[in-house]
Amino acid sequence: MRIGGVMTQLADSDIEDIDSFRDRAQKWIVANLPTLREGTGPDVDTGSNVDQANRARSLQRTIYEGGFAGIRYPVEYGGLGLTREHQTIWRELTAGYEVPRLFKATHGILGPTLLEFGSEEQKSMHVPAMLRGEELWVQFLSEPSAGSDLASLLTQARREDDSYVVNGSKIWSSNADVADFAMILARTNLDVAKHAGLSMIIMPLNSSGLTLRPIQLATGVAEFCEEFFDDVRLPVKNLVGRENDGWNVVLRLFFHERNTVGENSLNDIRLGGIEVNTARVQDELIALAKATNRESDSHARQLIGEALVLDILTDPAIYRVNKQIESGLLPTPAASILTLMRTLTQYRFKEIAMQIGGGRAAMNGQDDEVGRHGHHWLVARIGTIAGGSSEMQRNAISERVLGLPRERAADAELPFREVLNRHGKS
Ligand SMILES: Cc1cc2nc3c(=O)[nH]c(=O)nc-3n(C[C@H](O)[C@H](O)[C@H](O)COP(=O)(O)OP(=O)(O)OC[C@H]3O[C@@H](n4cnc5c(N)ncnc54)[C@H](O)[C@@H]3O)c2cc1C
Repeated sequence: MRIGGVMTQLADSDIEDIDSFRDRAQKWIVANLPTLREGTGPDVDTGSNVDQANRARSLQRTIYEGGFAGIRYPVEYGGLGLTREHQTIWRELTAGYEVPRLFKATHGILGPTLLEFGSEEQKSMHVPAMLRGEELWVQFLSEPSAGSDLASLLTQARREDDSYVVNGSKIWSSNADVADFAMILARTNLDVAKHAGLSMIIMPLNSSGLTLRPIQLATGVAEFCEEFFDDVRLPVKNLVGRENDGWNVVLRLFFHERNTVGENSLNDIRLGGIEVNTARVQDELIALAKATNRESDSHARQLIGEALVLDILTDPAIYRVNKQIESGLLPTPAASILTLMRTLTQYRFKEIAMQIGGGRAAMNGQDDEVGRHGHHWLVARIGTIAGGSSEMQRNAISERVLGLPRERAADAELPFREVLNRHGKS
């Protein structure tokens, strides 16, 4: 099978039978994975970011040694070469168990991008290490003045003999403080239009000249970092894909990211519906209505009914869109539909919880059974921004799926040096 240009699957005769896989996986999971505490979310808080990363690495290593890592990854790079059905079974069976969620982007986004564009050397060096839990990867894309309009980024990678010398800064890099490698998108040509002069390069995070600072969020966690590059030297062999073709690489990276959110990527890690592991959304909301004495309140009951409808319909709708992308009925930018559906539904669940929970949800802390919904509501907003905001997903759907006219951009065709001159930045 091909996922976004990546061959992943064994020949039919070599594929393990679904029932035998389920049986083997079930026994192994029960014997080897830690269970989640009842009522807690899939994110197990084990202390500092470093402690959490160490725990995720060791859990991923355990899964690798148990023979379950990289269910849809190619066998030649350490994966199992199995199917989406095997992966779905794994995700279902691991509900209620701790899984190394920190590897979600490594396995769902960066690994598939490397499989698609990386050199043989890059793939054989890094992909098996990702699956063994030895390499956590992150994306260095956004900059303070380049988020939605990513192609306007200012970080430059100047070619000097066999190296690129990188100068500039990046921001909002998830989990960079505990990662090992980044894919950085940088400008390698100033004399062409903004999309045409970018390149994707692998940056080891112990590179000299790289300064990394964690950013503290309103939720109290520091899962993002900002980075500053001062003559960071990277070998030219770290280029992913071709020089100045970074825009095509990042478009595919976004495709893999949208598929990860839509649970159709090479990532095996269950993302989890609402914050609970096994309970359905409506059970959570009914418990919340009872805790706030609102189970007879007609507005609360209507909200729970709405959540039930969304919960029942979202998964089959996502499945249908996935199938239509796979069969070519919808073009690949339709992956934005997956992201939009998943993130808006998730956000609506949390919003409904806030409406039912009222002041207690807003004011009480995370330790309170009602107050924790306030925290989850704050966290849910990130889904509508990360990897492209909901507005940008809607733009992509209208322009690239429906073929409506593209948004006008005055600087799209100008050489980037001239754009900088006009803004007095050269
Ligand atoms: C949880 C999370 C994780 C992230 N992880 C990473 C990461 O690992 N690496 C990384 O590089 N970045 C990461 N980001 C950054 C993310 O990619 C950007 O925040 C996102 O692309 C939006 O860019 P911005 O924040 O600069 O907002 P802006 O681009 O400044 O947008 C501000 C607002 O304007 C709207 N807007 C902008 N342009 C348009 C338009 N043309 N049409 C309609 N509306 C528009 C946007 O929708 C938004 O509401 C992460 C962000 C979050 C929240």
